Amino acid sequence: MSTRELVFLGTSSQVPTKTRNHNAMFLFWDDIGILFDPGEGTQRQMTLAGISATRITHIAITHFHGDHCLGLAGVIQRLSLDGAPHAVEVFFPASGQVYFERLRHATIFHDAATIVPRPIRINKDEIVELFNKNGLSLHAAALDHSVDCYGYRLQEADGRSMMPDLLAKHGISGPAVGELKRAGSVTVDGVEVKLEDVSSVRPGQSMALVMDTRPCNGARKLAQDVTLLVAESTYLSSETREAHDHYHMTAEQSATLALEAGARQLALTHFSPRYTSHQEFVNEASPIFPDVVVADDLVRLSVRRSAK
Ligand SMILES: [Zn+2]
Repeated sequence: MSTRELVFLGTSSQVPTKTRNHNAMFLFWDDIGILFDPGEGTQRQMTLAGISATRITHIAITHFHGDHCLGLAGVIQRLSLDGAPHAVEVFFPASGQVYFERLRHATIFHDAATIVPRPIRINKDEIVELFNKNGLSLHAAALDHSVDCYGYRLQEADGRSMMPDLLAKHGISGPAVGELKRAGSVTVDGVEVKLEDVSSVRPGQSMALVMDTRPCNGARKLAQDVTLLVAESTYLSSETREAHDHYHMTAEQSATLALEAGARQLALTHFSPRYTSHQEFVNEASPIFPDVVVADDLVRLSVRRSAK
């Protein structure tokens, strides 16, 4: 049974509040664990969420404002302390290399874990593949923030679901099913049966993270037909002007992004500390995009199988 679940470790922007930690998210995806944007206090939030540091296989940083990376120093040191047996790749905007290096070597510690820096450089309107293995790929695209900021999308390749009645009709059973999956066709009593004759497309699941940005093409590309869109919603629409000036989105804009991109589910996070009511974000986003979750710290969200 595979686990595909997103855990919100922190949901505040800029500063932590009494109820919201600095930004951070952890994505469980089968045996992969991606820590996104570890803001300050991420180590403790992981403890509260019951996530061990050794579950981290990748770290992805959208940009180097403090609320998205101040926790990196602690997390990297924790990987060494806990003896992470595998290499951990860290993706980040290459223009922030100097900040990465400072956080990577912030204090004295026994530096034992294998940390693999993966600086990335993306032009406007470009989408770049960061890895692609075993039918799972990670892409990044440039967003529209006051500094270089990249959003991410994890995508499972489409698969096929076997249709038992059609398999039976063609007399395919036992090892022949495995051969059909491997080879794409199998011959039964002299008749060739193709995989597509007895199966249907099972769309791959996906998750996109659109952090600090104005609405932009990069965000739209990342969100296109995604299973779960996680989007920043720093402001409410009463502050649309301020959102624009500070390169952020409102709940209305994030919900519109989800709607227009055909996302299946939306989660909002990264709220300005000025707002104390979670409900205002629900009220603003849900008439536009009803399948919305307004995240609080330590909320866990399953990535749902697409019905398409
Ligand atoms: Zn931020």
